[in-house]
Order: sequence, then structure tokens, then C-alpha cells
Amino acid sequence: MKSYHKAQTKIIAINMVICLALILGLVIHSYNNFNFGIAIITLLLIMNGLSFISSIKMKSHIDKVESRLELLEEVLESAPNAVFVHRKLKFTYLNKKAAELFGIENPENIIGKPVEDYVKINLKAVGKERYEACLEGRPFKPMVEKMFFKANGQIIDMEIYDSSIEVNNECYALVICRNVTEQKKIAELKEKINEDERKLREKIEQDKMKDEFFANLSHELRTPLTIILGILQLLEKSNDKIAPVEDERFQMLKHNGYRLLRLVNNLLDITKIDSGYFEMTKKKYNIVTVVEDITASVIDYVDNKDLNIVFDTEVEEKIVSCHVDSIDRIILNLIANAVKFTPNGGSIFVNIYDEAEKVKIIIKDTGIGIKEEDLPYIFERFRQVDKSFTRNHEGSGIGLSIVKALVELQGGTIEVRSEYGKGSEFIIRLPVEEVSVVDMVCATVEGGIGRKQKISIEFSDL
Ligand code: ADP
Repeated sequence: MKSYHKAQTKIIAINMVICLALILGLVIHSYNNFNFGIAIITLLLIMNGLSFISSIKMKSHIDKVESRLELLEEVLESAPNAVFVHRKLKFTYLNKKAAELFGIENPENIIGKPVEDYVKINLKAVGKERYEACLEGRPFKPMVEKMFFKANGQIIDMEIYDSSIEVNNECYALVICRNVTEQKKIAELKEKINEDERKLREKIEQDKMKDEFFANLSHELRTPLTIILGILQLLEKSNDKIAPVEDERFQMLKHNGYRLLRLVNNLLDITKIDSGYFEMTKKKYNIVTVVEDITASVIDYVDNKDLNIVFDTEVEEKIVSCHVDSIDRIILNLIANAVKFTPNGGSIFVNIYDEAEKVKIIIKDTGIGIKEEDLPYIFERFRQVDKSFTRNHEGSGIGLSIVKALVELQGGTIEVRSEYGKGSEFIIRLPVEEVSVVDMVCATVEGGIGRKQKISIEFSDL
């Protein structure tokens, strides 16, 4: 800018000389001093040439300065931060972001206005000395603040850089404000996520410990129970005089032993399923035979309750890769529920349908049914429709949740349909396996004592 002023002064001086020379040349010429007039005009032309060169130089200089100014202005205007300059606490420059910060459409509108009309200066943070330096237009040390206080009382999370600058021997204050609200929110969010993660890890650890404790406890409970039941079975076989098997008290002892064992087994299984440690070796079985066998083995129990059980199938063979013990548990549990919730004289139907790539097993009863509003929760753990202490049916409310988990572990699905007062049906779909000639299909399903004990356990709530 200084060289621009020099060039300007030079041109003005040259022009003044030219004007004087022109006047002089004309005066001399009018007094008929021809030669001297020519000399003056030549000088005038030389001077004019010099002036022309100077003005060309100045033009290119002005162009350069102008383009630099434009660039600087563009940089400031498109800066993501609010920038403003004040002298003696009066605005001298604001970029668009600063105008936005103060809620002004046109920055020009507040040039010359007091800064304190828009900013509440925090004297504690700024310090009296700095404030006075600002007010009097003296230089001050730069500083960074963390909060921006607007005159209207609004506080914004901002990083404010404040320093003094000197232009043409005058001191200005330059303020650059960076909005850190988002960053602060992100930082807070990150902290919260970390905290939640820590809590989650703690919860997972606690759950793991709880699962282990349950698994241990269930195991500890099961061992003595199995021994007691084993002795009862031996006594039953030997028909010992000390404990006559026909004795009602003996049967009661056995029955309640099985009930306890069922509960313990269920707790153990649910813990294993939850922790992913449920062992399941799948083999290929003809599911039709498996389900038919299970149904046949419960006929005595069902007859005792004066109920009718009917098995029917649309297909003779459907090969399913499954864990047959789990299939036993599933079907026995559903039939036991059907028996439990069907009044004397009712019927239970076990039907199998061919659905090409799937096999559909339906266990249907003509029992008390389930209210529509209870249906969505029927497979939830510990859910019993009748929660009253005076309810007619025994049970822990985890049977169906285990059934659902076991069906899903075989790659199948289960759904329920029911009409309150008329009956219920549980529909299971299992994926069917392709079998080649060389494939081994397990023919026999465990029967005899093993199945008998399973039935005693599953039917122990009846
Ligand atoms: P529980 O071991 O108590 O029988 P379940 O999980 O097997 O628990 O069953 C949960 C509830 O679902 C039962 O308490 C009963 O209210 C209802 N329920 C299950 N099966 C039937 C059915 N066949 N008919 C009517 N209600 C049923």
C-alpha cells in the first residue's frame, strides 16, 4: 500500500509539471519565441511519456493490490469461523459468520456500533488491564477463551482467539470465534458411550457369573435328585415290602421327585441355551416315526385323564436332521400342556403334514384355549396366563420358552393359534433334509425306560 501512495504522489507531481510546462509553452509561443516554445513542448512530451509509463506501472500495481484484497475478503467471508475486528470497542469489520452470530443480516449495519451492544465481555476472564487496553485502542496480549457470552444472555460453547493487531499505527482487536458446540456434544456422547460400554461389559460379566451360578446350582440339585429317583425306581422294580409301590405316599414321593427334576432340568437347559452351551448332536431321523412313537408312548397317561389322543399323518417318511432328545422334549412338553389344559373327555390331535421342503407338526387340543391378548406372550419366559396363587394348573412358565428355543436350534419355527374356550394348536415347522442312498438314517428311537422316565418328568405337573 505504501508503494501505491508513492506512485500516486509521483503521478500527481508529473501531471502538475506537465500542466505548468503547457502553460509556459503556450505563453512563450504567444510571445513568438518559436525555438524556446518547441523546446518546452518537447520537454512536455518527454514528461508526458514518463507520466504514461508511471501510470501503466501504477495500474498493474493497483490490479495486484485489488486482487489480493479480493482474495483476503473471500478468505474471511468463506471462513467457517466468525471473525470480527474492533477498535476502541467499536466494530470495524465483521464477516458473514460473525454477523450470523449476532443475528444481523448485513454486517455493514453494525460497523461503528459498540461491541458491548452485542457481546457481554467477561471481565473476570478478560482482565481489567486488557479491557482498558481494548477500550483505549492500545495493544494487548492474545488470549483464548472457552465461552462466548452474547449481550442477550445466551452462552455459546466457543473457542475465542482474541489478539491485537496494528495497522497504519493504529491498534485494532481481532477476534476469531470457533463454534465447538458440536465437538463438545460429540465428546460428551463419546464419554457416554464409553460409560455405557463399561456398564454393558460389567452386566455381561455379571450375567455370565449368574449363568455359571445357576448352572452349578442346577447341577448340584440334579445330582441328589437323580439318586433319590434312581432308588425309588429300584424299590419299584424290587417291589420291596418296606416301600410298597402301590402305596399312595410312594407314588406321591416319586411324582414330586420328577416335578422337582423337571424344574431343575428346565433351569439348567435355559441357562445352557442362553450361554450357547446347549449340546446338540444332530442326526438324520424319519420325523414321522419319531413323533408317532412319542405319541404312542403317552397313550396310557392321556387315557388316565379320560382324554382321547389321535395321531394322523399325511406322509410316511420325512427326513429331518435333528437332535432327537430335543424333539422328544418339544413334543412331550406340548402334549403335556394339551393334557394339562384340556378338561376330561376332550381330545388331543397330533398331525403331520408334508410341506415339501418343510414338515409341519401340529399338536392340537380341545381344551380351555388362550385369550387373544395373551397369545403374543405365550413363548415368553416365566409367562403364565393364570398368575393367581389359586390357579388350577401347576408349572413354572418356562416350558414353552424352552420349546421355542429348542425348535429354533433345529432351524425350525413354532407358532400358536387358539380360540379361548375352544382349544389351542401349536404348529411346528422343521426343515427337511435331502437324503441320498448312502445317507444313514437313524432307524430306532430310544424307547423303554429312558422314554418312560422322560414322560414321567414332562408329565409330572399333571
Ligand atoms: P408351564 O410350565 O407353567 O406350563 P409353559 O411355558 O409350558 O409353562 O406354558 C405357559 C402358559 O401357556 C401356561 O401357563 C398356560 O397358561 C398357557 N398354555 C400353554 N399350553 C396351553 C394349552 N395347550 N392350552 C391352554 N393354555 C396353554
